[in-house]
Amino acid sequence: MDNDFPLREEEIDGYVKIDRYNPEKVNRIATHYTDILEALGEDPTRNGLLKTPERVAKALQFLTHGYDLDAAKILKGAMFEEEYSQMVVVKDIEVFSLCEHHLLPFFGKAHIAYIPNGHIVGLSKIPRVVDIFARRLQVQERLTNEIRDCIQDTLKPIGVAVVIECKHLCMAMRGVQKQNSVTTTSAFTGEFARERTRNEFLRLITASLD
Ligand SMILES: [Zn+2]
Repeated sequence: MDNDFPLREEEIDGYVKIDRYNPEKVNRIATHYTDILEALGEDPTRNGLLKTPERVAKALQFLTHGYDLDAAKILKGAMFEEEYSQMVVVKDIEVFSLCEHHLLPFFGKAHIAYIPNGHIVGLSKIPRVVDIFARRLQVQERLTNEIRDCIQDTLKPIGVAVVIECKHLCMAMRGVQKQNSVTTTSAFTGEFARERTRNEFLRLITASLD
């Protein structure tokens, strides 16, 4: 992806807010949305819709900004040598993504674990990795595998486990009558192939703190 436009990244309490709009892209996408509004029988010149094509164009750029970020690089920048060799679990990570078939949102939670093999990673970087792959056009299955592979290839741990649970608006809103169904996907490597380890992970992500 082109990277020749300014990046404003703001880190607030470990969360990164990115405002990055390529004016050329905004114009190009907005022009098409004006057309789409007309095709839908709307009047793009009425007050409420005047700025809609531009807003949609900016929103879409934000929702797909993961293309411009390198998840492996971010993990590598926060790796530390450490002899800890128990399971590290980060659960209830918020996921917001767009399904590539309908460009409608799917959203929910990701739960991730790894067993270090000499290296640990700053904990806030795990949700970051989720976000970088989620902020693209996705299918939940590929999102799950991409997160697993990125952590496996970078940290080279003894094992990685990823479980993602999401609601898909393309199912809920399009009259499929599955408004409340949740899709669960999972991907494991190494030690998590063993049933005992996998069960411990699943127990930990379903346990509540209170
Ligand atoms: Zn869909």
